Amino acid sequence: MKAIAVTPKQANTVRLVEMDKPKLADIPNGRGVLVEVLRVGACGTDREINSGEYGVAPEGFDFLVLGHENLGRVVETGENVKEFQTGDFVVASVRRPGHSIYDVIGEQDMTTDDDYFERGISRLHGYMAEFYAESADWLVKIPPAIVEIAVLLEPLSIIEKGISQAFAIQERMKIWRPKTAAVFGTGTVGLLTSLAFRLRGLEVHAFGKDKRDGYFNADLLEEIGATYDSTMEISVADSVKKYGEYDAIFECTGYSPIAFEAMTALNQNGVLILSSVTGGDRKIDQIPADKINQQFVLGNRLMFGTVNANREHFEMGVKDLALSEAMYQGWLKKMLTHKVEGLENFGKVFDILNNAAANKAIKVYFEVNKI
Ligand code: BGC
Repeated sequence: MKAIAVTPKQANTVRLVEMDKPKLADIPNGRGVLVEVLRVGACGTDREINSGEYGVAPEGFDFLVLGHENLGRVVETGENVKEFQTGDFVVASVRRPGHSIYDVIGEQDMTTDDDYFERGISRLHGYMAEFYAESADWLVKIPPAIVEIAVLLEPLSIIEKGISQAFAIQERMKIWRPKTAAVFGTGTVGLLTSLAFRLRGLEVHAFGKDKRDGYFNADLLEEIGATYDSTMEISVADSVKKYGEYDAIFECTGYSPIAFEAMTALNQNGVLILSSVTGGDRKIDQIPADKINQQFVLGNRLMFGTVNANREHFEMGVKDLALSEAMYQGWLKKMLTHKVEGLENFGKVFDILNNAAANKAIKVYFEVNKI
């Protein structure tokens, strides 16, 4: 079968490879599910792996099959799989258990292992292939009514984890009813985060780099009742004068300095969620350290980082995809801006990904097989 792979840690090696088709027998205990891949999304992580920044090949291979944002159809199930049938639509999670106590208890998204296992990213082949085999334990069923937008589930799962952990941590107080949220970053993750906050009834203020005029992502934000401002036109501090301090802030720009500005924009008892994976070594000075520290202390403010997602976060995401269709019908589909048919057209996908702004791309994805 065809798959798209890179040689990790070398720049621009993305290519088509030929591999054996996976088999049910590859998965132990009769728990295997063979899945025909329908769609695979491409994101900044894939771009960075292809530019040699990270990614690790599985043991015994000198290449890594890319792809972690996925949607597929079940074609065969093992004898101990009761929860899926041929024809079911499924999305697979990304991280697999390693060795830490969190992995052992099924919370591998909270692993303390340095060497973690993620399909399409680290030590495990991904989903940019015609088929994959996986244990039923790592698959989530997709209701047919949302199959058209389900390739967005994996990125949404990251947000579901961040927001649900914020609410869990905020149980440090007897009551926490956030009213306003700021979202820094207005790419796929920023749009999905704004949506998730809107679905929870918050007033949402989103911030991106692009100027407002002609920025499609801003149109989308306004359609669901969020505001959009360009950080080229308004500073974070001035945004606070305009909208007030934020009860929750979600940072997903990929630009670490904004995290420090965000720290100054939190309301008392508020929470700042950091989700950007920033591989560089950027340094900034002129941080108002005393002020930030004092505000955090005197206002019981909170900041935490979040990565990856567990099964329950994918399940929350399924519900939010459905709720979004109920509240803002057709909105999510507008995020699927660039469909590329066929794995062999990987060059096109990476061209769009590398020039996302010029292409006005939100989500670029492969259609490997028709739904
Ligand atoms: C993926 C996560 C993964 C993270 C770090 C993200 O792009 O969506 O599943 O944990 O990268 O590798």
